[in-house]
Amino acid sequence: MRAPRGNRFRDRWAGTLRADRTGERVRVAGWVHRRRDHGGLIFVDLRDRTGLLQLVFRPEEAPEAHAAAAALRPEDVVTAAGELVRRDEGVVNPGLPTGEVELNVGEVEQLADADTPPFPIDDDSPVGEETRLRYRYLDLRRERVARALELRHRVVQAMHRFLDERGFLELETPMLTRSTPEGARDFLVPSRMQPGDWYALPQSPQLFKQLFMVAGFERYYQIVRCFRDEALRADRQPEFTQLDMELSFVDEEDVIEVCDELLREVLAAGGVELELPLDRLTYDEAMLRYGTDRPDRRPGMEIADLGEAFAGSDFRVFADALGGGGVVRGLRVPAGAVELPRRRLDELTEQARGLGAKGLVWAVVEESGAWRSPVAKFLSEGEMADAVKALDGAPGDTLLIVADEEAVAARVLGELRLAIAPPPQGHDLLWVVDFPMFEWSEDERRWDPLHHPFTAPVGDLDATPGAWRSRAYDIVMDGLEIGGGSIRINRPDIQRKVFDALGLAPEEAQARFGFLLEALRYGAPPHGGIAFGLDRMCALLAGRNSIREVIAFPKTASGADPLTGAPAPVDARQLRELGVRPAPPPTAPRE
Ligand code: ASP
Repeated sequence: MRAPRGNRFRDRWAGTLRADRTGERVRVAGWVHRRRDHGGLIFVDLRDRTGLLQLVFRPEEAPEAHAAAAALRPEDVVTAAGELVRRDEGVVNPGLPTGEVELNVGEVEQLADADTPPFPIDDDSPVGEETRLRYRYLDLRRERVARALELRHRVVQAMHRFLDERGFLELETPMLTRSTPEGARDFLVPSRMQPGDWYALPQSPQLFKQLFMVAGFERYYQIVRCFRDEALRADRQPEFTQLDMELSFVDEEDVIEVCDELLREVLAAGGVELELPLDRLTYDEAMLRYGTDRPDRRPGMEIADLGEAFAGSDFRVFADALGGGGVVRGLRVPAGAVELPRRRLDELTEQARGLGAKGLVWAVVEESGAWRSPVAKFLSEGEMADAVKALDGAPGDTLLIVADEEAVAARVLGELRLAIAPPPQGHDLLWVVDFPMFEWSEDERRWDPLHHPFTAPVGDLDATPGAWRSRAYDIVMDGLEIGGGSIRINRPDIQRKVFDALGLAPEEAQARFGFLLEALRYGAPPHGGIAFGLDRMCALLAGRNSIREVIAFPKTASGADPLTGAPAPVDARQLRELGVRPAPPPTAPRE
């Protein structure tokens, strides 16, 4: 960081001073991080955004400054000037970047007084999240939190730089708009000027970015806030930030290639090096080998199909599953990878049941190749040998096997795999491609899009929607989806077919998305794009397990902001103006 323009408060950043500046007279400003009285001498660690600097107050050299320092308390705001001196040999602090020097203060001025903060401003004291968010401006003074936001800044700058160089235009889209179908509930804003009508806050800029392509902008991006009113359990936030992009005259390859390079630049800003091209896995392969469409490959321990090995098995559990159209799949835990004593295997069996499996078969492969397993007596030697082979197993390995419907077996083994995996090292990025277009919603008794309904389908569109594939792609980092997108539909007739498959009546489609259908009639180029979850990417790069750690002012799990008290009641007059009647007090607990 460049030296500040010298003024009456400071002419240097405190945290940047090093031994090469000793002998200079400098002025610094910031907060009292810590104060120590050593008999005559007073030491103050002064903190500004760049770090800490030790100030020394000597009663005999600067009695006035020394007297003022005696009254300073943590978090008071001061400016201090004096000579930067080298510390004595024995008191150099190698743990501090400025640890070789200290400021011999000649004058100090207190600029603001601080109440005792509700928690110490250091990284070592554990503080409850509610308190942290209630006093977020103090929490943000703490090094660990501040560094995470600095990293976020660097990531965002890398995005802007890269995309500008590649000819992307940063364009804004409305916040007050109509519902955008990303599958979540909308936040609604009542219209005062059209009483009874409502705006929706965007769940994403999806439709507007497609309109930019119809308009001929060719390459668009925006780092944009999106709003989704959903249950906040899985570390979600009601407002979150996406890097949103769209390109014209492109296929999947073009989007993926530009994103590979973007990710390399962006992750480098977070100190992570990527080898390109990033791997790709089809959806089917991901579901088979990892039991999920967002695999984390770091633990190894892949899942394999054991259908062939047990094709002729007399063991009822396997025979029934295979005979009923289900699968038998297994997970190999290599010898020595993790401890799986009997008690742990029983826990895993319980966990498998909790996840919906009928049960879990476990087996330890012995030196002879035989299995130590409660079900060994029902299986032939050949079956056991074939299963070990299909799993690439060896003596000492533990095998976990589920016989069930395909979706259940995949989910259960996928979860167990992560539950037993040792803490992974490094990062794993890959693309998942070739998704099904729809998934069946048993609750709603209809097809739902796996991505969104503007994703281009492939395959025989006269076949059942369950057989359609889509031109979508997801990017997965460390087992979390950090981005997803697709090549879009650019013809109104195909768009209508998709709406039909979703069971959206033509009038309803017209009412909700008529403007898009109309735009597609005026020459829409082939186009596609993607959106990355900025918060999630930053959290992974910063090594934090919650996106709240990389958002300056996040909400709690119940969607509240303890700092401002939002959401909060409004007065009756405001509601009247908006033509909104207050809801009767809730009788049942709210979601
Ligand atoms: N609009 C999509 C989303 O928010 C991303 C995309 O398809 O570009 O997930």
